[in-house]
Amino acid sequence: MRAVDIIIKKRDGGELNPEEIEFFVKGFTQGEIPDYQVSAWAMAVVLRGMTDQEATDLAMAMAHSGEVLDLSKIGRIVVDKHSTGGVGDKTTLVVGPVVSACGLPVGKMSGRGLGFSGGTIDKMEAIPGFRVNLNPQQFIDQLCTLGIVVTGQSANLAPADGKLYALRDVTGTVQSIPLIASSVMSKKIASGAQAILLDVKVGSGAFMETLEKGQQLARLMVSIGKLSNRRVIAVLSDMNQPLGEAVGNAIELKEAIQTLIGNGPQDFMEHCLAISSYMLVLGNLAGDLKIGQEMAEQALMKGSAWKRFRELVIAQNGDVRFVDEPDRLPKAGYIETVCSPHTGFIAEVNARKVGEAAVELGAGRSNKADKIDMAVGVEILHKVGEKIDQGSPLFVIHASQKEKLAKAKEDILSAYKWSEEKTAPLPLFYGFVE
Ligand code: URA
Repeated sequence: MRAVDIIIKKRDGGELNPEEIEFFVKGFTQGEIPDYQVSAWAMAVVLRGMTDQEATDLAMAMAHSGEVLDLSKIGRIVVDKHSTGGVGDKTTLVVGPVVSACGLPVGKMSGRGLGFSGGTIDKMEAIPGFRVNLNPQQFIDQLCTLGIVVTGQSANLAPADGKLYALRDVTGTVQSIPLIASSVMSKKIASGAQAILLDVKVGSGAFMETLEKGQQLARLMVSIGKLSNRRVIAVLSDMNQPLGEAVGNAIELKEAIQTLIGNGPQDFMEHCLAISSYMLVLGNLAGDLKIGQEMAEQALMKGSAWKRFRELVIAQNGDVRFVDEPDRLPKAGYIETVCSPHTGFIAEVNARKVGEAAVELGAGRSNKADKIDMAVGVEILHKVGEKIDQGSPLFVIHASQKEKLAKAKEDILSAYKWSEEKTAPLPLFYGFVE
């Protein structure tokens, strides 16, 4: 078999068989197929697409390109969750402890921020000392002892995806439903959880901007999960406006802490309760979503979720004083509240523009080597559908440089659209795929 023939077959719209996909994945993992051929192949996939069978074979080949964790010795279903990425999405920080406190082990390998979308691992690193590099044995041990782990993706798991993703990032080949689905699912399969909740974000601040594309991605990921004997549900959730108020690492961590102690923004709280209930149903702990929702509410109300979060921080060596007293977390030098220039109803708060402004402030990376500024970000104080009076607080900027503050103010104001007529609030969810 030759790599060039596989590229040509895909370029001409052919369907690759499992042996060809296996050969290609093995070849580039072992460095035998060079980056330029892998890039050409990825572009052929972007332009020609893949059948569901090809995407499944690709996910399986990438999952088995390294270690595949066996979590069966834990003796109970372990649940994982994955968000396809959004703005202000700190859901894992809340639902992980909630679900674990209800008695379902949560084993989560998370990523870093990507482009305008934030990453759980960056947010957790706002806690001094918090370890995000647990090895597979430590991952399993902590799942057994504590029932929750949140760590970075181990390099031994799905290494083919790591290599392919790095190439796609710089060759304009990220935006492909079969490549995204197989990338996400290869990591989920390799990290061993038997039940996986996929949070597919849809809207201006998501990789999938339309509901139709979100549904295609959700269906394909669910089908890959089923073919690998995992229990999978994908929910489609809104990402046209930021989730919650905070966008930025330390301020999102703060908001997650407030939510865990019962004081978070309404939309974020509702989102977390719904995601938790899906996870509890997937893990057979709740008979239906209503029961799952009640269990999650109890975990928040009784403080068991907050207790579990503290235990997680301590188990991974984080300095728990920073979550007990979040005012100790990094604080920006310039914090400015920007007031509304209009009276009217909010018709849009473009999540991508807000995410990009936060990256410009330093909350994300423009280049791989960039260092994140934990303190900076934005708080979006109102949602689409709310009526605001001119001069009332609209958003808050946390900046470390004065010049960046002025630019962020301009950029975030441009994310808003206004209406004199009443506008409808955005839904939190658009449905789910089982
Ligand atoms: N997240 C992933 O893990 N992979 C993709 O391809 C896109 C987003």
